[in-house]
Amino acid sequence: MKYSNRILKIKVLMYHRVLEEEPEKESRWHYVTVTEFRKQMSMIDRLGFTPITFSDYQLFVEDKLTLPSKPIIITFDDGYLDTLENAIPVLNELNMRAVIFVMGNRKLKSARWDEVDDFDTCPLMTDEQIRTVQNMGFEIGAHSLDHYPLTGLSEEDIVYEVSRSKQAIENVLGKPILTFSYPYGSVDDRVKKIVSNSGFLFACGVYSGAARFSQTMMDFRRLAIHHETSRFKFLATLLLPYQYIEWLYFRLKNRMTHDVKMEADSTIKSRSSNGTQKSEDYAMQNMFNTNSL
Ligand SMILES: [Zn+2]
Repeated sequence: MKYSNRILKIKVLMYHRVLEEEPEKESRWHYVTVTEFRKQMSMIDRLGFTPITFSDYQLFVEDKLTLPSKPIIITFDDGYLDTLENAIPVLNELNMRAVIFVMGNRKLKSARWDEVDDFDTCPLMTDEQIRTVQNMGFEIGAHSLDHYPLTGLSEEDIVYEVSRSKQAIENVLGKPILTFSYPYGSVDDRVKKIVSNSGFLFACGVYSGAARFSQTMMDFRRLAIHHETSRFKFLATLLLPYQYIEWLYFRLKNRMTHDVKMEADSTIKSRSSNGTQKSEDYAMQNMFNTNSL
């Protein structure tokens, strides 16, 4: 049977930055150190998982590729230079592949949405560098043009952010871009439809998607790995049905915090109107936004 249990259990991990050392003042939620990353990748390897890409998955759907016995998908958002400098050497050593979501606005030199004092500390990969990464066998996906939370935009602006990012990255790489990642995991049915209509076959959210892989191709649920992910938790993420545990957790939390939701919604609305919304707000919004699961 094509969609066996094995396929339905594919986990999708989400990374952001991989830093050589702990940052001095920032304690952002979205980094791991290269030492920790190496340990995590070795753990994946030792446990017999084989990282695949969404392109591999598409080939499997088309009956052109057999998947390994324990597939897993490793993703990186934003296209940071440290993905190339720190993560990819480790992945190459272990013969692992991953999916890297880059910005469609190729003029962006650094991740200004990280909201740190010195933007130079968040450099992004250049056109040449993403070409190099693609040539090494990694899949490049799109992460919109400018990293706005898409659910807060007009339909016209969403179409622009999504379809232009696809075109721009395809122009640089000379091949079709199949996969999209929603900035901040900000997604609703309207956004999903536009992403699908723009020609993407797959899209990754964070906490919004179904627990089971491939239940919806337009909102893969991901497991966020960052500096607060202990080794025990990482192991549990790999070996236990952790995406179901998180899914259940957010559902229960949703029920228990129904009243808080009203307050959170109004905060989110007022912040998104001035464009300074923080990613944490979206994580919170996603936490509450589990009714459609
Ligand atoms: Zn992002």
